[in-house]
Amino acid sequence: MLGRTRKVGITGRFGARYGSTVRSRVRKIEEAMRAPHRCPRCKSRGKLKRLSIGIWTCKKCGYTFAGGAYVPFSSLIK
Ligand SMILES: [Zn+2]
Repeated sequence: MLGRTRKVGITGRFGARYGSTVRSRVRKIEEAMRAPHRCPRCKSRGKLKRLSIGIWTCKKCGYTFAGGAYVPFSSLIK
């Protein structure tokens, strides 16, 4: 991710809106949300996807479970 979004990363889609503090908070949370997480059932990495707030599913084994709002296990986020 080098070039024009090097600094703002995933929040580049917001342009100049919402203020830099809010954008950097959103960036931290959303990047944690999209980072590869390990499936609690089949242990495969990077297959978990958030369906909705707190609902996660594994693209490999189809396991769907309730977890944290932004990361599969809410104890991971500080
Ligand atoms: Zn799985």
